[in-house]
Amino acid sequence: MGTRGNELIELDIPQLVEMLNKALADEWLAYYQYWMGAKVASGVMRDAVVLELTEHANDELRHAQMLADRILQLDGTPLLEPKQWYEFTNCGYDAPSNPEVKALLVQNIKGEQCAINVYKNLMDFTKDKDELTYQMAIEILKDEIEHEDDLQTLQEDLKNV
Ligand code: FE
Ligand code: FE
Ligand code: MG
Repeated sequence: MGTRGNELIELDIPQLVEMLNKALADEWLAYYQYWMGAKVASGVMRDAVVLELTEHANDELRHAQMLADRILQLDGTPLLEPKQWYEFTNCGYDAPSNPEVKALLVQNIKGEQCAINVYKNLMDFTKDKDELTYQMAIEILKDEIEHEDDLQTLQEDLKNV
């Protein structure tokens, strides 16, 4: 990023970039977990769940793009190797080895709850110190809160079928 832009940030930039790379790893793994979950899903309400998982996959990929763009603006290097995702991730990856929609929902709700914590921490870290990253963290947090709510609503609906 430009030198004046850089001066506005009252934080250790390498530490911030590390946090953003950890979130980037989470987003790619979340993307793949949703994407693969949507492929293999089976059971009651399959269609509704697949629709939601696919939407969320697209959102996670968009989050990954936002994070990579911000890392580059900060003169950092986004993780270049997929194998680094496992090394950096906060939230890990749950393989959809049980394709039952109920099991997929449990796994993905756990992931969203972890993501909510990640972006809350990023907000706390950047508040009043890096407004742009702070705003980005709020924007992503909004989506993750919506994701958790959507999945828990599906979980409730499943109880009634
Ligand atoms: Fe996300
Ligand atoms: Fe999400
Ligand atoms: Mg949704």
